[in-house]
Amino acid sequence: MRQESTDVIVVAAGLGGLAAAISAAENGARVIAFEKSSTTGGAANMGMGPLGVGSRFQRSLMISITPGEAFRKHMHFTHWKADPRLVREYYFKSGSTIDWLEDMGVEFLAVSKVYPVPESQRAYATSEETWHVVKPLDGSTQFGPRMATAMIKTMTQRATDLGVDLILNTPVRSLITGDGAVVGVVAEDAQGEKIEARGKAVVLSTGGAGDNPAMIKEYTGYEWGKDFFSFRVPGMDGDGLKMAWAAGAAKTDIVQEMIYLIPDNLNPNNFIIGGAFGQPCLWVNSRAERFMNEDTLANLTFCGNAIAGQPGKFAFSIFDSALLKKYRQNGPDIASHVYPHDCWDHLNAAIDGALAEGYKHVFRADTLEELAEQMGLEPDALSRTVEEYNGYCDGGWDELFEKNHAYLQPISKPPFYACRYFPAAYGTLGGLRINYKAEVLDDDLNPIPGLYAAGLDACTIYGDSYPFILPGNTMGFTLNTGRIAGENAALLY
Ligand SMILES: Cc1cc2nc3c(=O)[nH]c(=O)nc-3n(C[C@H](O)[C@H](O)[C@H](O)COP(=O)(O)OP(=O)(O)OC[C@H]3O[C@@H](n4cnc5c(N)ncnc54)[C@H](O)[C@@H]3O)c2cc1C
Repeated sequence: MRQESTDVIVVAAGLGGLAAAISAAENGARVIAFEKSSTTGGAANMGMGPLGVGSRFQRSLMISITPGEAFRKHMHFTHWKADPRLVREYYFKSGSTIDWLEDMGVEFLAVSKVYPVPESQRAYATSEETWHVVKPLDGSTQFGPRMATAMIKTMTQRATDLGVDLILNTPVRSLITGDGAVVGVVAEDAQGEKIEARGKAVVLSTGGAGDNPAMIKEYTGYEWGKDFFSFRVPGMDGDGLKMAWAAGAAKTDIVQEMIYLIPDNLNPNNFIIGGAFGQPCLWVNSRAERFMNEDTLANLTFCGNAIAGQPGKFAFSIFDSALLKKYRQNGPDIASHVYPHDCWDHLNAAIDGALAEGYKHVFRADTLEELAEQMGLEPDALSRTVEEYNGYCDGGWDELFEKNHAYLQPISKPPFYACRYFPAAYGTLGGLRINYKAEVLDDDLNPIPGLYAAGLDACTIYGDSYPFILPGNTMGFTLNTGRIAGENAALLY
């Protein structure tokens, strides 16, 4: 077994690990970061940018939300079921963290409520302007997934310049404890050689358990592939949670960073389909009953929660060819920052392709009866619901859920289209409880000496649902807890 000695050991070089490693090194510590995969950045490579409140960039754009306002909104949204001191530290540091990133070379393209479309089409229309969307390295200004890779590249370079020993392809297997403190880790390199690294502090940021179906089932109740189709970013196996629990850390609830998706959503045909049906048309559950005012689907989290509450935990979006024509000609009722804005032009071809591949979650028929049969619904029940709904459209008033009347458009012109959505998530949240210094707490809420955590492993501040009102929140929490952990861990040596 190889022996290493340092000041601060960081478990993983994802977003939280990089922030912790950089801040510990900036505060004078020698740092080793062990990363399981062949690259840095973890799931953050797929995203667009972090929250900040009170950044220089925001102020230059005359955006006036203050950390205190963000703190109060967050605590109200979570019914004060979050640690107020930790939440306070996070928001009050978050503006300076954006400045810190800029100072190391990260550039931001915009601070967005969510993304730039007309107000009437904006998803999350009620959210604050906190989402700092990263400017891609190629200078492009097109909003879309993976913009945050530019931030990861710059942070990785900064860590390297500061002398952080970044060791890739080397998962940490366990923590070493002694006299009630965490004093090191055992890692394993690509050749299978064990490395015992000892230091004054260990920071965990292993990104949750989003790629571990057994843990998802045990801790959240969802069965991946049956009633749940989240992103499974490789490597997010819950390693940090299991290692910290074994060292005496308290177990917290684990929740999902909830959205809704169709199965296998990254398949090119399915990506078009998933984008096209995410509209406030007619949504029903497996009993052909409406279950929400469909404008709710502008909020991915709330809509995911609503679908998760239905029998079988799935729901259908239905529209007719008149609505399809309208989406093609006038654009969507609610625009997305992820899906192509012309997906309706390609919908029939995508459905043909998906059906040819045997895809079971999209449907098209010339009559409502045939559509219901394909969907596995009772045809009379669907006819009753459509008849009632079309009556609301004729009258201009949704008597059941008071949906925004701008979206009351009847389902009457064949062919008819439908698609089945399930609850999904970006990843899991929580498992470890940290205090405002990012120290990991035991069951008595005392810090475990030498152990710190950041990011999704420690993200217990949302209550039961992602706080879309302050977007960019998981990267924001991750960066700031990583930074706090690194600063405090560096104080120990
Ligand atoms: C499609 C998508 C889009 C997103 N967009 C946004 C967005 O725009 N804004 C936002 O705020 N959030 C976004 N997120 C969420 C964001 O990616 C996470 O908040 C963030 O990456 C969490 O950081 P982390 O350090 O906890 O985990 P990660 O960044 O995922 O890093 C975890 C790292 O741990 C490593 N690891 C795991 N186990 C071990 C081990 N035993 N030893 C060593 N290394 C290990 C992994 O390989 C990985 O590199 C998005 C997520 C997804 C999936």
